[in-house]
Amino acid sequence: MKFYNTLAGKKEKFKPLKKKFAGLYTCGPTVYDYAHLGNLRTYIFEDVLKRALILNGYRIKHVMNITDVGHLTSDADEGEDKMTKALRREEKPLTMEAMKELAYFYAEKFKKDIAELNILPPDIWCFASEHVKAQINLIKRLENNDYAYSTNDGVYFNVVKFKDYGKLARLRRLDNKSRTRVINPEKKNPRDFALWKFNEKLGWESPWGKGFPGWHIECSAMAMEYLGESFDIHCGGIDHIPVHHTNEIAQAEAATGKKFVNYWLHGNFLTLKGARMGKSKGNFLNLAEIKKKGFHPLDFRYLALTAHYRSPLLFSLEALKAAKIARQRLNNLFEFSFKLLKNQNSKFREAFFNAVNDDLNTPRALAVLWKNINSLNSRDFLWADRILGLGFDKIKKIGIPAEIAALAEKREKFRREKKWKEADKLRKELASLGWLTEDTPTGSRLIRKI
Ligand code: AMP
Ligand code: ZN
Repeated sequence: MKFYNTLAGKKEKFKPLKKKFAGLYTCGPTVYDYAHLGNLRTYIFEDVLKRALILNGYRIKHVMNITDVGHLTSDADEGEDKMTKALRREEKPLTMEAMKELAYFYAEKFKKDIAELNILPPDIWCFASEHVKAQINLIKRLENNDYAYSTNDGVYFNVVKFKDYGKLARLRRLDNKSRTRVINPEKKNPRDFALWKFNEKLGWESPWGKGFPGWHIECSAMAMEYLGESFDIHCGGIDHIPVHHTNEIAQAEAATGKKFVNYWLHGNFLTLKGARMGKSKGNFLNLAEIKKKGFHPLDFRYLALTAHYRSPLLFSLEALKAAKIARQRLNNLFEFSFKLLKNQNSKFREAFFNAVNDDLNTPRALAVLWKNINSLNSRDFLWADRILGLGFDKIKKIGIPAEIAALAEKREKFRREKKWKEADKLRKELASLGWLTEDTPTGSRLIRKI
């Protein structure tokens, strides 16, 4: 398998740390609102990655965090805490209990969304608020190694001390460009980021004072807790490259002195009206909204598969309609096309597998599927669906009525005997009964008229 590794800046062959095992960490949702389709595109890409690893025979340990604390409105430690803002929006009291309730509510919605998109759930879900001790311990390690310092509003990571800071994003070494619009004068360097933020009213007690862990420390701490100090693959959207993942690497490697993650994979944006789909600008749609418009969640999954995960994908209702039509046709073909095709199509499987293993090239895999569509039996469809996740296994096969199957067999016999006239008569008879016959090089198949 080959993946584009952001850290290496090129496609690389995947070499796991342990034989046939992959440790996988994917940054999860901040549960202050419903996920939008942009977020969901990223989770679909990560699902394809996981399915591809499984199809290649890997055992996976997949960890996904739930950010229910510490994510400020700007990724760079400024602005209001997103959870606090949501409590205000929903006119709830500003208490830890209300925050927890809100987090559970949106976490459940998120789990339902991903189930509807046929995304395999992680082996471990971890809430940041339930791992505060691990985060405090990691900050202590950083303090002991002289990477952390305190100011009036929190504890910060000193990026100048970390030699390789910014290697993931290829940031020009401390170019003095502040990540924050409001420069905190107490920070030693503009890029220093918060490990802990003080808050007198809400939060947890810590050796530095009451408050919240920073957003970045949660992922480093929980990833290491469940996957060890070094593991195989870490993913997220491309927006995470310059700040969140850059800071995760700095924290983990400054604490352990070991390489944190070998492969970093990042998904490009879903865009709407020329801009990244996002909450801040208000240009977003969520799954419930497209369902109200008559789409199935898997129509969106199909749309996501039509673009390579490293390319931007332009969202429009027209594109979603085209995806819906294609998916329905596939479902229909799956339901009725298997009857007379006995052998599995190994050439198809090889081409499809190669596309997937070449940096998860789903558009190429779909093209291979459509190109071979006339010579696939139901087992080929189900095999491809182990990657695509379009839910063929859930389609109830109504089945072909026995008298129709008998007519089709009889026609097939005439065709083999080159009795074209008789075969044609039966074709017309089948059509009048609502069944179309399609002749392919490997046999005929039946499709119900819709
Ligand atoms: P958040 O809940 O904001 O932490 O984001 C969850 C995931 O969605 C992250 O991996 C982000 O990188 C990703 N993401 C956010 N906006 C988009 C978008 N428009 N397209 C694709 N992925 C996105
Ligand atoms: Zn993260």
